[in-house]
Amino acid sequence: MVYDVIIAGGGPAGLTSAIYTARAGLRVKLVDPVGTGGKAATTSLIQNYPGFPHGVLGPKLMEFMSEQARGFGTEIDYGEVSAVKQANNLFSVAIDGKEYEARSVIWAAGTCSRSLGVPGEAEFFGRGVSFCAICDGPLFRDKVVAVVGGGDSALTGAQFLTGYAKQVILIHRRDQFRASLANVNRVVGHPKVTLKLDCTVEEMKGDEQLESLVLKNVKTGSLEHIEVGGVFLYVGAVPNSAPLKGLARLTPAGFVKTGEDMSTDTQGLFAAGDVRDKLLRQVATAVGDGAIAGWSAEKYIIENFR
Ligand SMILES: Cc1cc2nc3c(=O)[nH]c(=O)nc-3n(C[C@H](O)[C@H](O)[C@H](O)COP(=O)(O)OP(=O)(O)OC[C@H]3O[C@@H](n4cnc5c(N)ncnc54)[C@H](O)[C@@H]3O)c2cc1C
Repeated sequence: MVYDVIIAGGGPAGLTSAIYTARAGLRVKLVDPVGTGGKAATTSLIQNYPGFPHGVLGPKLMEFMSEQARGFGTEIDYGEVSAVKQANNLFSVAIDGKEYEARSVIWAAGTCSRSLGVPGEAEFFGRGVSFCAICDGPLFRDKVVAVVGGGDSALTGAQFLTGYAKQVILIHRRDQFRASLANVNRVVGHPKVTLKLDCTVEEMKGDEQLESLVLKNVKTGSLEHIEVGGVFLYVGAVPNSAPLKGLARLTPAGFVKTGEDMSTDTQGLFAAGDVRDKLLRQVATAVGDGAIAGWSAEKYIIENFR
């Protein structure tokens, strides 16, 4: 059986592409190794997605999107795309070791969290080191935790953690935050938040569990040990684009270059969402990309196969 569209990734971009293509009557398969929802399902209150004047919980919003995609007939499965090839106008898509055929592919695989690469980080991953406050924050009730990073994800993570932790130490290598003013204002000055600016994490230490961090002040070079029960890392994103090498142009960091219609260098292959080379990585922009990619895939199929 040949699918009209195979979508890699079940975050806001992939699900929106599924809604558009399945609603257009196309045969659509969407796969994601961890189920639908993407990064948006790992955040708590989303306040800047239009249509929800009081905000919406990330997992709830993503549940609605999945239900909508399924409702239009999208086949949604657990699965990881490991390779995409094109031959004779068709794509061969390897999903968990099995090959599937499709007329078009929408790549919406997002990004994964960047690690710091410091001693102790890998050793204590899952034993105090985490990339997701909403997933693991409740495990640190009444403990001292640290958050590393200065962007919106770090600041929203820190804010979420104030609901559980005794103290949240926000560590940032600069003295200015990249995050939006709204997020900065919610965190800076919060009675539970302590700032460690101009600091980097040099080492993570402990026995069975993480117990302390070694910080370095980048201006003075001085070292400081702080005791923490957990550390949450928000230090950037690595695009999940490896299977597109040779099919799409990538930036040096691995983000996918697309046209305004989400097309890549290979006809019939589209990319959408955070994995793309773009200015703003948010739910609203992922949804916009997903809509355009879905519409472009439909147009491509009508022009080439109908
Ligand atoms: C802590 C945090 C807070 C945030 N808060 C907000 C906010 O308040 N407002 C806002 O607008 N945005 C927020 N964002 C950003 C927002 O979540 C992302 O911009 C959005 O989820 C991107 O959607 P996406 O579909 O492109 O990618 P993702 O949501 O990352 O989804 C990609 C999916 O692809 C899957 N995948 C990866 N590799 C493969 C593969 N090989 N095959 C198949 N599937 C694959 C992944 O498992 C993942 O589920 C936040 C992000 C974080 C981390």
